[in-house]
Amino acid sequence: METYKVNEEGYYGEFGGAYVPEILYKTVENLKEVYLPIIESEEFKKEYHALLKDYVGRPSPLYHARRLSEKYGCRLYLKREDLNHTGAHKINNAIGQILLAKKMGKTRIIAETGAGQHGVATATVCALMDMPCRVYMGATDVKRQHVNVERMKMLGAEVFPVESGNKTLKDATNEAIRDWCCHPADTFYIIGSTVGPHPYPDLVARLQSVISAEIKEQLLEKEGRDYPDYLIACVGGGSNAAGTIYHYIDDTRVNIYLGEAGGLGVDSGETAATIQCGSLGIIHGSRTLVMQDEDGQIIEPYSISAGLDYPGIGPMHANLASQHRATVMAINDDEALQAAYELTRLEGIIPALESAHALGLLPKMTFKKDDVVVLTVSGRGDKDLDTYLAHRNEKGIDA
Ligand SMILES: *Cc1c(COP(=O)(O)O)cnc(C)c1O
Repeated sequence: METYKVNEEGYYGEFGGAYVPEILYKTVENLKEVYLPIIESEEFKKEYHALLKDYVGRPSPLYHARRLSEKYGCRLYLKREDLNHTGAHKINNAIGQILLAKKMGKTRIIAETGAGQHGVATATVCALMDMPCRVYMGATDVKRQHVNVERMKMLGAEVFPVESGNKTLKDATNEAIRDWCCHPADTFYIIGSTVGPHPYPDLVARLQSVISAEIKEQLLEKEGRDYPDYLIACVGGGSNAAGTIYHYIDDTRVNIYLGEAGGLGVDSGETAATIQCGSLGIIHGSRTLVMQDEDGQIIEPYSISAGLDYPGIGPMHANLASQHRATVMAINDDEALQAAYELTRLEGIIPALESAHALGLLPKMTFKKDDVVVLTVSGRGDKDLDTYLAHRNEKGIDA
């Protein structure tokens, strides 16, 4: 059977692989050898699921959004990752990777972060597991995401501002890889999305797949069948989308729709729509679509949503798009803002700006009345209030 999951060599079609410096070769090989035996062991599963239940608060609800359903003419369910501890799906992955790190005998954690969300999730699990943690963050982002920096520090992490390049996520990633090269024996690098060298994209997808495992059970209970007609998610690097679709990826009864960040528009030069605007290249150790110029220099992405502001895309998603297994649309800043206000006013849920890019797909789709649609709300909007308030008048909303 055709599968859209990773193959033995770490590829999804022509995308993926592990393009790492020679000095990391053995470290990545070792991770590749041990990750599946560890995360599939009964001991790991028991600890992981106990923490997901009592620490994260899983299962996250599958909520039938009645007013939004009425508006879009379908049976619309929201998968509420916004209700997790720390406010988004990223904690599912961070918990899994720190348990893996411990079982591998690692004693130090590093991570990189752009908006700070993955940094906070990593700092959180490091506090929980009493592990030293260094988070690399571009100096520009340190200034822009001040509150998350303070959260990480309160949690006991060391935040390391990166002064090279544009001082944003790409530069923080380079610095984290540099650190990993110097301390491969004792350090585990927690990557926050379905990106990076193989086996990270597969590791992260599996750790987030709890989302679709729960959707299956919850749909069976609510609809009498365990699959939806449509799955909808936003994509930055691709982890919440990968978790949402994981157990349905080869089930073609299920249509997959993904929203990437259009920014000011795909033709504006101010965009993070990597699938529409990217070309084949290597970023963060993986062969995938990259926003780059003719000389292969990374083009700085732009989106109103810091969590989608990434110049690459997970290799799984690049392949899903190129095989037409998933329909990917760019949702612009103004469409995402509109969608966020709509969810807030119809259902009383303030979504993260990232998640608003999934909601922004709804007006662009057509449904039949009985279609069952599951949309993942990847995170909550508390962190985005300033942005929402700054734009409320522009949207003609009398908030
Ligand atoms: C980081 C983040 C995203 C984007 O990351 P993915 O790996 O594509 O899921 C989406 N939503 C929220 C709330 C985030 O924090």
